[in-house]
Amino acid sequence: MFKKILVANRGEIALRIQRACQELGIKAVMVYSEADREAKYVKLAEEAVCIGPAPSALSYLNMPAIISAAEVTDAEAIHPGYGFLSENADFAERVEKSGFQFIGPTPESIRIMGDKVSAKQAMIKAGVPCVPGSEGELPGDPVQIRRIARTVGYPVIIKAAGGGGGRGMRVVHTEAALVNAVATTKAEAQAAFGNPAVYLEKFLQNPRHIEIQILADKFKNAVYLGERDCSMQRRHQKIIEEAPAPGIARKLIERVGERCVAACKKIAYRGAGTFEFLYQDGEFYFIEMNTRVQVEHPVTEMTTGIDIVRTQIMVAAGEKLPFTQRQIAMRGHAIECRVNAEDPYSFVPSPGRISLWHAPGGPGVRVDSHIYSNYFVPPNYDSMVGKIICHGDTREQALARMRTALGETVVEGIKTNIPLHRELMVDAKFTAGGTNIHYLEAWLAQRPR
Ligand code: ADP
Repeated sequence: MFKKILVANRGEIALRIQRACQELGIKAVMVYSEADREAKYVKLAEEAVCIGPAPSALSYLNMPAIISAAEVTDAEAIHPGYGFLSENADFAERVEKSGFQFIGPTPESIRIMGDKVSAKQAMIKAGVPCVPGSEGELPGDPVQIRRIARTVGYPVIIKAAGGGGGRGMRVVHTEAALVNAVATTKAEAQAAFGNPAVYLEKFLQNPRHIEIQILADKFKNAVYLGERDCSMQRRHQKIIEEAPAPGIARKLIERVGERCVAACKKIAYRGAGTFEFLYQDGEFYFIEMNTRVQVEHPVTEMTTGIDIVRTQIMVAAGEKLPFTQRQIAMRGHAIECRVNAEDPYSFVPSPGRISLWHAPGGPGVRVDSHIYSNYFVPPNYDSMVGKIICHGDTREQALARMRTALGETVVEGIKTNIPLHRELMVDAKFTAGGTNIHYLEAWLAQRPR
């Protein structure tokens, strides 16, 4: 096992990884930007290294600064968390070339899965069902583009091969708008991701977002830890996640889970990963794979009892997966609410000093957050400041616990989206279960103030 790991991230996930290290008896070196000096995990750290000024490009995305922080502290491995450099194949490669273990898959796996076109091709080969669409990148010839779209059938969605974070996508309803839409998406993709390649998919009208969590070791053992329903999204960003997905037959989940495991073995995947699917009319369609730990991993930890971050570290150190598929059992239901520092109506970010923070508690309640009373939320990063996760024997119990937890939570000094979560937890359609990816946007559009 490693003696020392460098945590190359910030916020709640940095604290989550620090906690896992502590439990495993591993020293955690924390890095921070000048804007994050006050962070809880920096105060708790035995060792912490400042890697640059506030802008991410100069700190959390600064590869040489992070690698030299690992060198000066004699860390053996680097955990990238999520976001920032976690899905950057060049970073993983530089980490390994510098003699450190990257806690994640190989650079090759990241590269294949990071390009949505090659990821889809790999999944089709592995027998994972995908959204019907173009075979690979769209060609330049307008006649061919129109022919492909006609075969797939309107509406279609144009997506950037290098896209992420809900950006680089455009829905097209008519042939007249197609060629222009392709050109605009290509230009945007070049500007945002440095890669102009785009592909085309059937635009599904009312799907749910269902994803499968997997874990794999270096010996080609792989398991799936069930699914998560992440359909409650605003602007393609998840805000509530849960496990299991309401109303989907276990047999169907098992079939898709087994396909994902087979795909992992085929590409010699290692570490934690998530296969994201759209689910509509009883069918699953792969959209992309995330080659890292995800924000919503706690709902799976609570329903399976498996510590995903701990397991990531163990398999990176060369240990075998400590469980087989048959030993994995799902118990009860878990729901996560992402707490964002933002206005709950306009969604304008609300950074600043938190004058008072009171976290909820009680049976089945977990809070993953790095904030505290008098903590200053810097304006430079993502607005998520924590997550409240509630587990119960049933979905009803998990919801009841979440309502109580949200009622207990106090955040003063900044605005948060907790009032929005309180409303959603008593919404008839959400509480009935099975809402699709458009539900939240439609709900917000006619929300009374
Ligand atoms: P990103 O990497 O930017 O998160 P994804 O491919 O995961 O992009 O898609 C993000 C979201 O966009 C999905 O959760 C879904 O809401 C929507 N989406 C993507 N592809 C389709 C599609 N073919 N049909 C309908 N909605 C889609």
